[in-house]
Amino acid sequence: SVILYQDKFLQREQGLVDMEDRGYQFGDGIYEAIRVYNGNLFLMDWHMERLVRSARELRLDLPYSAAELTENIKELVRRNGIDDGLVYFQITRGAHHRQHDFPKGVTPVLTGSASEMVRDPDRTHGISSILADDIRWLRCDIKTLNLLGNVLAKQAAVDSGADEAILHRGDTVTEGTSCNVFIVKDGQLITHEANNFILNGITRRFVFALAEQLQIPVIERDYTVDELLAADEVFITSTGKEVTAVVKIGDQTIADGEAGPITRRLITAFSAEVERVKAG
Ligand code: PMP
Repeated sequence: SVILYQDKFLQREQGLVDMEDRGYQFGDGIYEAIRVYNGNLFLMDWHMERLVRSARELRLDLPYSAAELTENIKELVRRNGIDDGLVYFQITRGAHHRQHDFPKGVTPVLTGSASEMVRDPDRTHGISSILADDIRWLRCDIKTLNLLGNVLAKQAAVDSGADEAILHRGDTVTEGTSCNVFIVKDGQLITHEANNFILNGITRRFVFALAEQLQIPVIERDYTVDELLAADEVFITSTGKEVTAVVKIGDQTIADGEAGPITRRLITAFSAEVERVKAG
């Protein structure tokens, strides 16, 4: 496959990364994952805005402008002949003999790839989840490469035969290991507010827009594990999973084990937007 290395297009084997890269040493870098529908990048501007914010929060100087990056990523998609897929790219602070403080004069390192991701036309299958303690740091709003808390929770889910782990800090539900979590109660959507405890998902924000069109109220607030388990419906949102129902949490079945009516309306509305994007 063709990869992006800085602003060059290389074969994957040619994309050499320095062993002293701070991405390896500290997870000192940021990333984005962007969905491609029919060769078109979905919500690219929102992803770029979030990348710029992540960079600013880590005081990492982006080596390319959002416009240059967008052009290169479009080209990456083209060169790989991706129809429906996913672009992943990351930017580390650069390579230097290991020291904790920022080394002077290093160049940030960008690497990116694009791969096929087939979209399931039937989006109504629900997933199962476990609950897991949210042991991550206190800046989950930054999309950094440091994902060990997410990795361990996801593996705990897989080890117990579940698809996902829903994280909670004390009694408060925060998000999933790579998704945001919504509950539906009495016709309203409730999801954690966008503060330092969660990543403000692009899909989360897109669902806010869909809900507005559908006149479904959205409330951003803390909600508890008990509220989660007593919800009428639960769904997750992410670039890869779009809107996906959660129908089991631990031993408890949610919404009779199927995607509920409000989740289905959102899935249908989301698919309509995807069709629009596909049409170009
Ligand atoms: N939370 C976390 C921790 C994530 O890793 C992701 C996926 N990147 C999300 C939420 C969902 O974000 P998005 O909708 O932008 O994919």
